[in-house]
This record gives sequence, C-alpha cells and structure tokens, in this order.
Amino acid sequence: MKLKKLMCAVLAGVCVFSLAACGNKESGSKDGEKKETLVMATNAEFPPFEYYEGQEIVGIDAELAEEIGKILGMEVKIEDMAFDSVIPAVGTGKADFGAAGLTITEDRKTQVDFSDEYYTSKQKIIVKADNAEIASPDDLKGKKIGVQQGTTGDIYSTDDFGDESVQRFNKGMEAVQALQQGKVDAVIIDEQPAKTFVEENEGLKILETDYTEEAYAFCFKKDSDLVDKVNDALKQLKENGKFDEIVSKYINSDAE
Ligand code: GLN
Repeated sequence: MKLKKLMCAVLAGVCVFSLAACGNKESGSKDGEKKETLVMATNAEFPPFEYYEGQEIVGIDAELAEEIGKILGMEVKIEDMAFDSVIPAVGTGKADFGAAGLTITEDRKTQVDFSDEYYTSKQKIIVKADNAEIASPDDLKGKKIGVQQGTTGDIYSTDDFGDESVQRFNKGMEAVQALQQGKVDAVIIDEQPAKTFVEENEGLKILETDYTEEAYAFCFKKDSDLVDKVNDALKQLKENGKFDEIVSKYINSDAE
C-alpha cells in the first residue's frame, strides 16, 4: 500500500514536470502574462559562440539571443541541430531564427534574410605544429583539407581546391581530430573555434595568413518581421554595453 502511494506521488510529479517542460508556443511569465516563444536554431559545436556546458547550451550567440528575447518580451528556446540544417529549418519556418556564428553569403541570402552583422570573423587554417610545408592558403593545393560540412570553410575550399581535396565532417572537432591523426593535412575553420580547438588539442598551430574574412549575422525566414525587431534590439545591446560585456566574457581580446 505504502509503495503504491509512493508510486502515485512519483508519477504525479513526473506528469507535472513534463507538462511544465513541454509547454507549447506560450509560456507563463512572472506577472502572469503569456510570453511568446522564439525557437532559435543552432549547432552547439562552435565554441565560444555556442557549445555545451553540461546539459546547457552557452556561448555568445546563446546569451545575445536571450538578451534580445528579453527586449522583445519573448522566451528563447534553443534547438541544437546539424549545422547544415540551420538554414533549412529557418527557411521553412521550423525555427524562428538561426544564431550559429553564421556567415552572410550571397547564396544564403537567397534562402533566408539576415540581421545586421554583429561580428567580424575569419576562416583560419590549422596544421600540425611541425608542418613546414603549409605556410599560406596557396600551399593547400593538392593537400587534404578537413572542414565542417556546409560551412563557409567547406564552400570556399571546395571552390578553390576542388571537391576531391575536401574531407567533410559533422563537427569541427572531428576535423581537428582527423588532422591530429594525420588523416588530413589542414583544417579550415572559423577563427574563434580554431583558437579553442588548438588550445585544447596538442601539437597544432594556426597559420598567420587568413583564408577569408567574413561577417556573422542572425538569419530569419524571408520577409520575417523579426528582422527589424532583432536589429533594433541588437542596436540597443551595442549602445548599452551589454553586447561588449557578453563578447568579452567569452573572448579575451588582450590575447588577440
Ligand atoms: N561561419 C561559418 C559558416 O557560417 C561556420 C559556422 C558554424 O560552423 N557554426 O558557415
């Protein structure tokens, strides 16, 4: 009997919890008003913009999105997916916006609308620390290049060096591991993840010469009225210092 009671209590608890956890588009706020939920599509394999800390997705994009949500009076729910699913998810309306260290490109502009740019980045080349052969992008001709599938590193190196030279991985970290194991000669990836991966993995170096320069922005379904709202919120965050505060929490500019 006692056991039955306990089971009921546990089950009731589970039900309450799952009801709360599976709220739909609306969720309650403290003042009793309903808040609309914005679904953010990302690929949480891209430190320091989005990555897991335990069960939680943290990083510059995650925090910026939360602050933008606060300004718009909306709750942000992050959905982690493969990088090359982010734009399709946003383009088809499965997610309300994408925040994924996403570079603005002309081709992507045909599929989604972009916010104002919020961060200038570069594609960097990582090689083994003792590699004396590859010192600049030109030296990549005929070499095996590891990239994360669907990224600008993938797109541009395929254009420049040919499909057969490029080896694609689901995660940037997997490309870096392939480099350590000698399966590829170089990895092309965005500057900040490059720094994180080289710090965390021995025997690698980043070349001084950049491969490309590019700019990050949030993306939206074409003609979404969120674009202007997010641009206004971004402007506010830049003006009130919150933007710089978030970036410098994750990127140590003294070390640049
Ligand atoms: N900036 C690169 C791109 O947009 C990579 C982004 C990522 O891997 N999250 O393609």
